[in-house]
Amino acid sequence: MSKFVDDFMANLKAKNPAEETFHQAVHEVVESIEVVFERNPKYAKGKILERIVEPERTILFRVPWVDDQGEIHVQKGFRIEFNSAIGPYKGGLRLHPTVNLGILKFLGFEQILKNALTTLPMGGGKGGSDFDPKGKSDNEVMRFCHSFMCELFRHIGPDTDVPAGDIGVGAREIGFLFGMYKKLRNEFTGVFTGKGRNWGGSLIRPEATGYGVTYFAEEMLKAAGDTLKGKTCLVSGSGNVAQYCVEKCLDLGAKPITISDSSGFIVDEDGIDRDKLAFVMDLKNVKRGRIKEYVKKYPNAKYTEGVGVWKIKADAAFPCATQNEISAEDAQALVSNGCKVVSEGANMPTVPEGVNIFIKNKMLYGPSKAANAGGVATSGLEMSQNSLRLSWTREEVDEKLHNIMKAIFKQCHDTAEEYGTPGNYVNGANIAGFVKVADSMLDQGVV
Ligand code: NDP
Repeated sequence: MSKFVDDFMANLKAKNPAEETFHQAVHEVVESIEVVFERNPKYAKGKILERIVEPERTILFRVPWVDDQGEIHVQKGFRIEFNSAIGPYKGGLRLHPTVNLGILKFLGFEQILKNALTTLPMGGGKGGSDFDPKGKSDNEVMRFCHSFMCELFRHIGPDTDVPAGDIGVGAREIGFLFGMYKKLRNEFTGVFTGKGRNWGGSLIRPEATGYGVTYFAEEMLKAAGDTLKGKTCLVSGSGNVAQYCVEKCLDLGAKPITISDSSGFIVDEDGIDRDKLAFVMDLKNVKRGRIKEYVKKYPNAKYTEGVGVWKIKADAAFPCATQNEISAEDAQALVSNGCKVVSEGANMPTVPEGVNIFIKNKMLYGPSKAANAGGVATSGLEMSQNSLRLSWTREEVDEKLHNIMKAIFKQCHDTAEEYGTPGNYVNGANIAGFVKVADSMLDQGVV
C-alpha cells in the first residue's frame, strides 16, 4: 500500500471504528484515485476525499412495532444522506437483521459514485433497518413499514431524498412505506421509486438491475470480441436482481444453471428455462418459500446446503445475493475453471483479495458500482416520468436502460485507458464516478 492510501485509511478507521465494510468500500476507491490526485492537486487542496467520506447527514431513529401476538418490538432505523453534489439523495432501503451503520455507510458511499456513472442527476444515500421481513405476516410488515415512515417522512421528498428497494424491500414494502408517506404529507409525489404500476411506478424498474448487470456483461464480452450467447452462467441469490438476471441471460441466448438463497444453492445442469424461472418467481415473490423447494418440482436439479456456487464450472458469473459472497478461494476457482466474465449484481460481492485475483488474471470483471447501476438508473427514469406526469412504454424504458449501461461501460473502459490501466474496470468506474462528483463539489464551494 502507498503512503497516500495508508495515511488516509488509518485516519478513516480511527474516526469510524467497527465499520469494516465501509472501510473496504473506501479503500478500493482511494487506491484507484491516487493517480487522479497526483495529476490534479485541486482535489487534495479542496479536501475532497476527506469531505466525500463524511455523510452530509446521518439520521438514526427508533422503530417500535407490534406483532400479531400483541408483543412490542423495537428496531433501529437509519437513513444516510451521503452526498447531494449532483442531485437529490438517492438509494435504497435495506431490511435485514445484519443492517448496521457500517453496512449502510458502505452502501451509501458506493451509491454516490454509482449514481454519478448513470449519467443522471442523482446524489447518494442509503437507509434501512435491522427488521427481518422473513417469516413475518403481511400485517406485521405493514405495521413495521408504517412505523418506520412515521419518522422518515420528515427527512425525504421528491427533490430532497428519494428512497427505493434493496434486500428485503420489494413492491409490498414500497407500497406500505409510500402509503404512510402520502397520508402524513398529504401529497402524491414521486418520493419513492420502485412503486406499483398503478400508482406511478415505471415499467422495467423491477427488471432493471438484473437486466443491466447482464447488459454490462455483454458489453465487456463485446469489447473482447465475444458474446453471452451459448455461455453457461452461475447466478447467486433468487431475489429481485437474480430473477431478472436469469431472464435476461435467457433473452441473450445464455444458459443459467444455478440460483441460491441464504440457506443453500441449486445446480440445474439442464438449464433454468423460462418455465423454471416462473416457478422460482412464484415461489419467492408470492409464496415466499425457500429455494430448496426447486428440486421437488425439478428432481434432475441438485440442492446443496450452504455456499459453493462459485466452485461450479461455467463461462460467466453473476453474484446477485449480498456483499462479500465471493471469497478469494471462490475467485481462484472461477479463474481456474475458465470463467470468462464476472458481472456483479449485488453490491460489493467480491472480497478485495478476490478482486485482485480477477484483475491479475485479466478476467472481464464488472464491479458492482458500474454493473448493477441499471437499477438506480431506471429509478432516475421513474423520477423523470413522475415529474413529467407521463409514462414511457416498456420498450422505451428498456432502450434507455440499455443505452445507459452502454454509456457506463464506455466511461469505465475509456477512463481505465486514460489513466493507464486498460481493461481494469474497477479503476475506470471509481475514477469516472469520483471525478464527476469531486468537480461538482469544487464548483459548489465548502458546503
Ligand atoms: P432480495 O431481497 O430480493 O433478494 C436477496 C437474495 O439474496 C435472496 O435470495 C437472499 O436469500 C439472498 N441473500 C441475502 N442475504 C444473503 C446472505 N447473507 N447470504 C446469502 N444469500 C443472501 O434483494 P435484491 O435482489 O434486491 O438485492 C440483491 C443484491 O443486489 C444486494 O446486494 C443489493 O444491494 C443489490 N442491488 C439491488 C438493487 C435493486 O434494484 N433491488 C439495485 C442494486 C443493487 P434469502 O431469501 O435466504 O434471504
